[in-house]
Amino acid sequence: MVIDCKHVWNYISEYLDGALPDETRDTVQKHLDHCEICSAVLDSTRNVIILTADDRIFELPVGFSERLHARIDLEFMRIEP
Ligand SMILES: [Zn+2]
Repeated sequence: MVIDCKHVWNYISEYLDGALPDETRDTVQKHLDHCEICSAVLDSTRNVIILTADDRIFELPVGFSERLHARIDLEFMRIEP
């Protein structure tokens, strides 16, 4: 299975999360080994995740998650008949 750069970009966040099936992860890994563009994308994506995961910089208010989910549920109810 050969994939092009655009496919790799679609997989990058799951790749970093370790959420890809073994076969897909190996394919992405092989592509990253020889593709400088995708390696750079992977590195910068990883850096963004590290920055945004640092709760000293981005501290979410208490109850933010609950309010977000309540809001998402509300939007889904509005979309569905
Ligand atoms: Zn590539």
